[in-house]
Amino acid sequence: MRVRIDADLEKGTIERTELPESATWLGGRALADSILFEEVPPACHPLGPGNRLVFAPGFFAGTSMPTASRMSVAGKSPLTGGIKESNVGGMAGITLAQLGVGAVVIRGISPGPSLKLLVFRHGSAELMDAPELGGLGNYETVECLKKRFGDGAVILSTGPCGEMKMSAATIAVTDTNGRPCRHAGRGGLGGVMGSKGLKAVVMDPEGSQLRKGADPGAFAEAVKEYTKILQSSKRTAFWRENGTAALIDVSHARGSLPTRNFTSGAYDKKDRINSDRLKVLVAQRKGAMGHACMRGCIIRCSNIFNDPQGRYLTSGLEYETIAMMGSNLDIDDLDTIAQMDFRCDDYGIDTIETGATLGILTETDLFRFGDGERAIQLLDEIGKGTVLGRILGQGVTTTAKVFGIARIPAVKGQSLPAHEPRSLKGLGVTYAVSPQGADHTAGFVAEEPFSKEGHTERSRKAQINMVIADSLGLCQFTGLRDDYGLFARLIGALAGKIPSAEEVWRIGRDALWKERTFNQAAGIGPGQDRLPEFMRSEVLPPNNSAFDVEDQDLDRVFGDYP
Ligand code: SF4
Repeated sequence: MRVRIDADLEKGTIERTELPESATWLGGRALADSILFEEVPPACHPLGPGNRLVFAPGFFAGTSMPTASRMSVAGKSPLTGGIKESNVGGMAGITLAQLGVGAVVIRGISPGPSLKLLVFRHGSAELMDAPELGGLGNYETVECLKKRFGDGAVILSTGPCGEMKMSAATIAVTDTNGRPCRHAGRGGLGGVMGSKGLKAVVMDPEGSQLRKGADPGAFAEAVKEYTKILQSSKRTAFWRENGTAALIDVSHARGSLPTRNFTSGAYDKKDRINSDRLKVLVAQRKGAMGHACMRGCIIRCSNIFNDPQGRYLTSGLEYETIAMMGSNLDIDDLDTIAQMDFRCDDYGIDTIETGATLGILTETDLFRFGDGERAIQLLDEIGKGTVLGRILGQGVTTTAKVFGIARIPAVKGQSLPAHEPRSLKGLGVTYAVSPQGADHTAGFVAEEPFSKEGHTERSRKAQINMVIADSLGLCQFTGLRDDYGLFARLIGALAGKIPSAEEVWRIGRDALWKERTFNQAAGIGPGQDRLPEFMRSEVLPPNNSAFDVEDQDLDRVFGDYP
């Protein structure tokens, strides 16, 4: 049995109900989408009392399935104004699921004055005051909470950026080492958490139990098959050995590495920030490659990056951060990028959105390419909440408005991630039409990267498959996408009722339809399913390609929706 916990911050009450039968096969993103679709008025203000914040472990979270315990964090986004799901690793998904929780719904706004904590122990949930945590960064917050609740506590928290309700604020999740370095980064859901007056969710794992399912034998058999696929995949070994930083070389080679504010797809100094360089520094300083962000991950793409004295600096230093704060800002030094990453994690601000924001700031005299010291100062302004910092913390679209900048790398208010759509046109289609705004995890399409044809169907399929993965709790790096038959057996053995392959596909299809419908009611229609104008008018070196997929093909992704 999985339960839903509703914490009403306004009334100070906790309600515990069983998930309904309609949620038998739902977890993660699909479950969060149905809750938001049914309960949140699409036109509500994202920071107002009508919005809800949902934490939903993936369907397989807390079972013996490896790399399948991720969690969805969802709500109406202050960044895009639409529905948002931000997928996160770390230990929260496993722990909530093993405490029997299928979804946590945060509603209402605390009347204050104290910040609140939501504390889970085996069989109980409770709201508590935490005035001492006001203004603290995520690292200090976690240290304080461990002193109060024990070293084993698993913690979700928001930093000062969330408390200041910034549109690019994140929610941190502690990893296998108990550090708040995994983030539900996109869409500003940290601002929604801050708006409710909730500083942290604390989970005491004592008494939590492995989920074995309705038919443990059949589930164990299917898990064996799934694990064999993962273990024998060349991708698994590749990510473990090289980390996601390996994508610096891959993106540079295909001309899709955002460089100097999206003016090039290749970076002449990429050898200073790529995986080879990262591995040398990690080895010299006794950090770690092949680190697992959550228990039970057999891919282990993450890392621990130490400073030159061998002291912990940040974890994990990932591709998106290295590209958006490295090549995109012409900062060619991994130590500087790692310091920026640490600050973003501590203040609780999205590295992708912030990298894009500092990129456009090069059009003003506030920042110039390659100035790592100034970049760190600007991040400190965000963390402190100076006037400039508060503007930057609203993300690339608001910053562009404030400074009169027209060349904005964003879709639906959310910045483009670190994959140039002019050299990956199928992914460009996903960026343009996804209800999530520009998001590389919404449905990655790498086939025929320079063709303008055939991406309508590819993107639709990739988006549906990604919703399924996000709903099941699978990490995107499993590479498993349309293995509907295997998923059906796993779901059936866990839930006690086996879906058909078609019903598995419908989990993704229906959730995506709900996201789209919610957005339309919130005022985000097909007219916003477009990439920024400059991506059509400016060709991108070194491939000299512009985005030229026809508008009618973008419109068909959902126009022809099955
Ligand atoms: S593959 Fe990487 S991101 Fe995915 S769960 Fe494992 S460590 Fe985390």
